[in-house]
Amino acid sequence: MTHPAPVPAAPAFAAIVVAAGSGSRAGGAKQWRLLAGKPVVRWSVEALLKAGAQDLVVVVSAGAEAEAQTALAGLSGWRLATGGDTRAASVRSGLQALGGPGDRPVLIHDAARPLLGADVIHRLIDSLDHADGALPALPVADSLRRAAGGLVAGAVERDGLWRAQTPQAFRYQAIVDACAAWPDAEPATDEAAVLERAGGRVRIVEGDARLMKLTFPEDFAMAEALIPRQIRVGQGFDAHRWGPGTSVWLCGVEIPHDQTLIGHSDADAGLHALTDAILGAMGDGDIGDHFPPTDPQWKGAASDRFLVHAVERLTARGGRLVNVDVTLICERPKVKPHRQAMRERLAGILSLPLDAVSVKATTTEAMGFTGRGEGLAAQALATIELPA
Ligand code: MG
Repeated sequence: MTHPAPVPAAPAFAAIVVAAGSGSRAGGAKQWRLLAGKPVVRWSVEALLKAGAQDLVVVVSAGAEAEAQTALAGLSGWRLATGGDTRAASVRSGLQALGGPGDRPVLIHDAARPLLGADVIHRLIDSLDHADGALPALPVADSLRRAAGGLVAGAVERDGLWRAQTPQAFRYQAIVDACAAWPDAEPATDEAAVLERAGGRVRIVEGDARLMKLTFPEDFAMAEALIPRQIRVGQGFDAHRWGPGTSVWLCGVEIPHDQTLIGHSDADAGLHALTDAILGAMGDGDIGDHFPPTDPQWKGAASDRFLVHAVERLTARGGRLVNVDVTLICERPKVKPHRQAMRERLAGILSLPLDAVSVKATTTEAMGFTGRGEGLAAQALATIELPA
């Protein structure tokens, strides 16, 4: 029997996440916007902490501290620094907040590149053994043209050209000294350019297409599409007893009937089963946890609000519904004449296309509590997608 190889310890490193931009091209300060249910800045802070960052400073504009606290709530191992008017000033502020030791690797990252993987982080830190700095980059694949007035004015040789990304990695004292030597009046492209000007050798390591920078509003949709997702399924079941009445609510539709279903809310068993199916797919408890029947405010409540609540919980986690399938089990009333109205109502509440919403009905051939007309039962399945 052999023992598994020991897992190498994550290298000790510190990190600065620059989140001080105003992001005018992306329509507002993009670092606080939600990407798959999570603030943009939180994606890279989580990635750096998970990869083993031992000291992490998030640089924000003066006045944005509360927004940052909210965006990073519940995470530990990070602290705030206040940025300056320029990117260079913000980086200097982050470096000052961080402090030495001088040979410690420091990663400097743009919050606008949220999809940061551990492999890029490790490649960067490893490369500091052989260089003063390192940046991830991708070779330019498209052919390049210079243009003027909407007309092509010559080709640009792409050989040797790379698209630089962040994070960029440095030894602490080397980048502090290089920043101090940089002329204030001149805007710097990035910290690698600053180090290079100071005579440092900057190594290129393999970048990652998912490290795209969120620059324009449409970039958010592209980044969302790059996030790995998992399919989950949940099921729900509910039953209510028949009692005196003149109509019954089923799947959000009121049907005239010589009885009604008895319950604390409107007793819509179809909506209750479906709410439980969505909560079940998320591992988020059941309808009774979210709307206790002992709470008088839910007495007689329209059950569509329970369903809306479950969908809001799903959306807040960056998830979305794929399809739902409800089965109503009763001898009476006849469900078939109302099925289309029920599907349309559910599709409206859930913002799903009609073909992703199914309502079916069955009897139990006079057997059991539904067969004897004591009550109605409902079953539901919901398929969801969640960020993996
Ligand atoms: Mg119920």
